[in-house]
Amino acid sequence: MSIRFQIDARAGAARTGRLTTPHGEIETPVFMPVGTVATVKAMPQDILEELGVQILLGNTYHLYLRPGVETVRNLGGLHGFMAWPRAILTDSGGFQVFSLNELRKVTEEGVTFRSHLDGSSHFFSPESAMQAQIGLGADIIMAFDECTEHPASRERARASMEMTLRWARRSKEYFAAHRHENPWSRQSEENPRLPDSPALFGIVQGGMYTDLRRESAERTVELDFPGYAIGGLSVGESRAKTMEMIATALEVLPKDKPHYVMGVGYPEEIVQYAAMGVDMMDCVLPTRAARHGLLFTSEGRINIKNARYAQDQGPADPRCGCRVCSRYTRAYLRHLFVSAEPLAAVLNTMHNLAFYLDTMRSVRHAITLGDLSGVLSGSVSLA
Ligand SMILES: [Zn+2]
Repeated sequence: MSIRFQIDARAGAARTGRLTTPHGEIETPVFMPVGTVATVKAMPQDILEELGVQILLGNTYHLYLRPGVETVRNLGGLHGFMAWPRAILTDSGGFQVFSLNELRKVTEEGVTFRSHLDGSSHFFSPESAMQAQIGLGADIIMAFDECTEHPASRERARASMEMTLRWARRSKEYFAAHRHENPWSRQSEENPRLPDSPALFGIVQGGMYTDLRRESAERTVELDFPGYAIGGLSVGESRAKTMEMIATALEVLPKDKPHYVMGVGYPEEIVQYAAMGVDMMDCVLPTRAARHGLLFTSEGRINIKNARYAQDQGPADPRCGCRVCSRYTRAYLRHLFVSAEPLAAVLNTMHNLAFYLDTMRSVRHAITLGDLSGVLSGSVSLA
């Protein structure tokens, strides 16, 4: 048995549900903070738990290069290594490898790439990407796909989509034969209520063409995965185009399986996508923006380094109940940031993650009440 997904309530196309993983239950729709190299930058794990993070994301490409899959496996997998008892999802490494541009070469067999750390040469195939993710010990792992660049011609987008489908089949075959080789199988045998192996999700591609998106979704569903991601978005297209591609895929994807949109988005976007029936989202935005002094609040985005906050005695967000907003002033947060103090990154990240997680909590609550219109129009407090 891998994962279970149960839908509890619906409001239009939106739904709340529970995804049971080998490392506990996740309430959906869920926002997953990104912990690229086995850390959500600037956040200790106990703070993440206190914020209510139920699942976080690790990047296979980065962990494969440093500290290395075997090292992580020998240290108890990602859960043991980073002392994180809750669920983890890893990406396939494809997205990062494809962002390397000049440093990679793609063939039917896989991708040869050079490390951004030391220039050394490496190779990822669907099989080795599965082996790496199983070795890291994630609860949810992703099929190896090609993230089609944008813009791409129809011919190029089709060829890329076809290769992603062939790689999805190879990913699934390798996974089926090796899924119990994770670092924690024995541990979960002691808790028979929880799944005893990770789950492999398929990924819909197809560039920015609705017919290719639909075909990619249909043919990925034929391969039969326990969950489906919509990839290749937020690569420079308009927000309207992102929504059109998500809507097209959602029409085809099975309603009883989790739907994951990779790499999105702003707070208003994740609310919109949840309303469309998306269950899982991840993005570096709240954590990366925090380190640049950009705070998301119920009154919009604020740039804490702005001189106008130098004497501001108010909290970052008057409607936020997080530890940062209950204790510190904008004036202090600005001072930390302009002084380049490490605490600036810690406090800004803590608030932004609290804002994102509270946003999703409000969305889940509204769905349970059967009406998302208040959250969508912004008239209900998001914090
Ligand atoms: Zn706050």
